[in-house]
Amino acid sequence: MTAKIIDGKEISQAIRKKIEQEVKMLLAENIVPGLAVILVGDNQASKTYVANKQKACKDLGMHSVLIQLADSVSQSDLIDKINELNNDESIHGILVQLPLPKHVNEKDIIEAISPEKDVDGFHPINIGRMMTGQDAFLPCTPYGVVEMLKYIGIDLEGKHAVVVGRSNIVGKPAGQLLLNENATVTYCHSKTDDLALHTKQADILVAAVGKRNTITAGHVKQGAVVIDVGMNRNDEGKLCGDVDYDQVKAIASYITPVPGGVGPMTITMLIKNTVKAAGRRRQIALEALN
Ligand code: NDP
Repeated sequence: MTAKIIDGKEISQAIRKKIEQEVKMLLAENIVPGLAVILVGDNQASKTYVANKQKACKDLGMHSVLIQLADSVSQSDLIDKINELNNDESIHGILVQLPLPKHVNEKDIIEAISPEKDVDGFHPINIGRMMTGQDAFLPCTPYGVVEMLKYIGIDLEGKHAVVVGRSNIVGKPAGQLLLNENATVTYCHSKTDDLALHTKQADILVAAVGKRNTITAGHVKQGAVVIDVGMNRNDEGKLCGDVDYDQVKAIASYITPVPGGVGPMTITMLIKNTVKAAGRRRQIALEALN
């Protein structure tokens, strides 16, 4: 078997076309969905991610603001900035690019963002809403993973999904969203004994580890759907995932490449969340009029 490739760019484009229609409807009512991104320090990878996010906004006619702060910024100054944006009517979504410098407490920063503008979906209120099946801003990467699976027509109900990785921003929410879709979910992590024993049972295998070649042919069941969230560099400095792509594509039914798989979906989901935030605000304003 040679796996079908799940083309994240193509799926992203299709989703962005729909988002574009929603943006046009909001623009017709003089509402310009606005995203503010706070970038602290000089991390080159973060700069690239932020530039891509801004470009995606601009391409869709949205408002996008970049606030660049020095590495030495104090936690209280950063929180003041977030509060300013929380109160700025032209901003519907706020994103603080991670990682942050060591002297800043990431948890406090995430909690300073208004849950109604938390388009990254990292605020505990949104996480709680997600866990209890309520309407929430969903964390962009796991949200993108589930949307990809739905797009290619995978019925998640009753499937065994194994998620390798349990970070708060990728692994844990990916498992929760798959559970919300009625999959049976197993989490694996660095302390898991015999990783392959678990991953070989997966109908859907999600790798979110951050170490290349964590998942090889011996970890995958024939016909499994393999989603590679990892972003690593190989010996030649080229971007690669957590999955040994060449080995695993001979076994899986579907596989995401790196690059061109989950990555483009993450930005698309961020834009989707921002437009949703703008739409919600419009709804609240309309309800206040009635
Ligand atoms: P973290 O480092 O926060 O989490 C990694 C997880 O992998 C941890 O839960 C860890 O377990 C687990 N782990 C580490 N080694 C092993 C192992 N040998 N076997 C099984 N599990 C292991 O990373 P993130 O969740 O933030 O990111 C994961 C990857 O996804 C990274 O490569 C990152 O760059 C990428 N990423 C990609 C995005 C995209 O848009 N495509 C967006 C965000 C992230 P433990 O908890 O026990 O330490």
